[in-house]
Amino acid sequence: MVILETPMTSPSFGRIVEGNSSKNTARARNSRPYHAVAIGMREPILVIACLSVLVSATAAAEPKAEALAERKAALEKKLGKGFTVVVEPPFVVVGDEGPARVKQRATGFLRWTVTLIEKDFFTKRPEKLIEVWLFKNEKTYRKGAKQFFDDTPDTPYGYYSSEDDALIMNIGPGAGTLSHELVHPYIEANFPAGPSWFNEGLASLYERPVEKKGHIIGLPNWRLPNLKREIRAKTLPSIRTLLKTSHDGFYEASYDSYAYARYLLLYLQEQGKLRDFYTAFVADTKDLTGQAALEAILGETLETFEPKWRKWAVALQGDNR
Ligand SMILES: [Zn+2]
Repeated sequence: MVILETPMTSPSFGRIVEGNSSKNTARARNSRPYHAVAIGMREPILVIACLSVLVSATAAAEPKAEALAERKAALEKKLGKGFTVVVEPPFVVVGDEGPARVKQRATGFLRWTVTLIEKDFFTKRPEKLIEVWLFKNEKTYRKGAKQFFDDTPDTPYGYYSSEDDALIMNIGPGAGTLSHELVHPYIEANFPAGPSWFNEGLASLYERPVEKKGHIIGLPNWRLPNLKREIRAKTLPSIRTLLKTSHDGFYEASYDSYAYARYLLLYLQEQGKLRDFYTAFVADTKDLTGQAALEAILGETLETFEPKWRKWAVALQGDNR
C-alpha cells in the first residue's frame, strides 16, 4: 500500500479549532440554503420549459471565467500592493504572502484538494463566487478579517463565512486549514440538508489529506488523542446521539464532537465505505441524521457496531500531527 504525501502539503497541516460563540463561525455553519423549485405540472410542455430553465440556472450557477476575472481585477484595484489575487476556478484566491507563494498555494494544494474532493464526492461546484483569503499569520488574518469583513474570529485558524461568500484563514500553521474549509462550500452546494456532524466530520477528515491511488485519504491527526481520552473516560455519548445532534448541539457539545465525527468517517474510509455512505446519506430524504444510511452501509445496527468502533478507535495509531 503506497500512500503518497502530496508535495504541495506542508509538514504541518494546521489545527482547526472552530469556536462556538462568534457570529462568524455561527453564521458560517448556519447557512443551509434549501433550493425550492416549483415546477408546474399541468402541461407537459410547461414542465419541459421549467426544467430547461432549471438546467440553465444550474449551469449558470457556477462562476464563469468572466466573473472570476472581473472579481480578480476588482480585488486587485481595491487591495493594491501587498496582496496577490489568483483565479483558480471555481474560486478567486487572495493572499498576503509573496506572489509566487500565493500562486503555488492556488495551483498546487488548493487545486489538488478541489480535484480530489470533486472526484469522490461532489458533482456540483459552489453556486456562487467564493473568495479564498489566505493570510500569512494570525496577526494579518485577524486584521484582514476585521478590515475586509468586519469580523472578529473566535478561532486563530480560519472559518467559512457563507454570508460573505469567503473562506478566511490563517495559512501560517499549515495547509490543513485550507483543505478543511474547502469542504464546507461544497457541502453547502451538494448536501444542504446535511447535518453539522457530517459537514465538520468530512472537513476535519481532510485536515490531513494524502492521495492514494488517485483518491483523497484523511490520515489520523492531532484530534486522535482527545478522542481516545474521551472513550476511555466514557464521556462520549452514543453514536446515535452524535448523529442526532442539532447544529447548536454539535458546536456546543460538552465532548469533542469534531473528533468523534472525524473518526467515525475515518473508520468508514478505512473500510472502503465512506463514499457509499455519503451517496446513501444524500439520497435518504427521510432520515437526516444518517443513522439509517450508516446501518445500511455497515450491514448492522449501531448497537452492535458501536462497541467495535470504540475498540478500533482506542487501538488506532497515528503520530498525532
Ligand atoms: Zn469546519
